[in-house]
Amino acid sequence: MKTELAYTKDCLMETTPRPDIAFVRGEGSYLFDQNNRRYLDWVQGWAVNCLGHSPDVVVQALCAQASKLINVGPAFYNEPAIELASLLISNSCFDQVFFGSSGAEANEGAIKLARKWGQKYKSGAFEIITFTNSFHGRTLATMSASGKAGWDTIFAPQVSGFPKATLNDIESVRALINNQTVAIMLEPIQGEAGVIPANPEFFKVLRQICDDHELLLIVDEVQTGCGRTGTLFAYEQHGVEPDIMTLGKGLGGGVPISALLSKQSCSCFEYGDQGGTFSGNPLATSAGVAVIRTLLFDGFLEESRHVGAQLVAGLVAISKEFNLGEVRGKGALLALELGSNAGPEIVAAARERGLLLNAPRSHCLRFMPALNSTLAEVDEGLILLRQILKELQ
Ligand SMILES: *Cc1c(COP(=O)(O)O)cnc(C)c1O
Repeated sequence: MKTELAYTKDCLMETTPRPDIAFVRGEGSYLFDQNNRRYLDWVQGWAVNCLGHSPDVVVQALCAQASKLINVGPAFYNEPAIELASLLISNSCFDQVFFGSSGAEANEGAIKLARKWGQKYKSGAFEIITFTNSFHGRTLATMSASGKAGWDTIFAPQVSGFPKATLNDIESVRALINNQTVAIMLEPIQGEAGVIPANPEFFKVLRQICDDHELLLIVDEVQTGCGRTGTLFAYEQHGVEPDIMTLGKGLGGGVPISALLSKQSCSCFEYGDQGGTFSGNPLATSAGVAVIRTLLFDGFLEESRHVGAQLVAGLVAISKEFNLGEVRGKGALLALELGSNAGPEIVAAARERGLLLNAPRSHCLRFMPALNSTLAEVDEGLILLRQILKELQ
């Protein structure tokens, strides 16, 4: 006998299509629904659960912190917030941190910080060059900064000041620079667009352009940060230092927390400019401390790169066998180009077979397994994917 969902679902706003299941339990790479059916989860809350579902270190940190202190408000110091900020600073090129609760909130803060810097040091320059197909969040400003088709009119009027260039086309960036330009903002790998990497040369030239024109380079590492691409932060792989970075998703291992990091030279908020009721609350920051400490353990990120490499090898073989397209991405943020619009159909069929996948665009699949997945789990997922593709042929 199948258990029907014991509550009415009509009480939730229908902002996204959802399958008729409810998950009740998670354990590492696996999720269990209301019928105790097991799924191998390669979505992991959209690259959020970097250590898998309910990892011990996060559970223990939350339990210990919850019984001590959950919230004091942002106008007082607390130990976990200071510890997480210093962990992030000592392992990056940045000097100061502001905590938020979502990626959009961190990006909104980055936009405000760049505009503040423009007011103080660049005669009020405010334009931030962003990219077509980029994704920076769902507040009005971050939707305006995003380059998603249709988002320019959906909640018109937009927040102005976000001219769009084309990723990996340096001339398209140069053409937009004027005396109102204050920053260039990009994802090191465009995640929602279907895992499209900014190429290393492009990244280097962007840094040069920013130096030449006195612009800030802002990296949105909400998806690529926190070990997702095989290093703690994706920018490290390009040998350039951004001025501002945002983190979200993986930072709390499932607990809502985000961060805005800045170099000293542009960390120019004054009292009253920036805040947030939940900013730096000890419960969320204690989860962040547990996550970052785990990612920094000797060998952890190296092991996660093996997981990514194994997944790439398997996907390349599958692509050959079924005559599909390119496999791209870094670390454990990967995509398989399908050469057709079968993405949603494959995602639905995979769910039926107990494998959770994501198709950010209908023509590709995106893979975001837990960074601490075992090689056996990778093989299990690849075998399932192969069976599913065979059945759909
Ligand atoms: C998910 C994401 C965001 C938005 O984060 P939220 O927590 O949903 O607000 C912003 N930028 C990038 C690159 C993302 O992947």
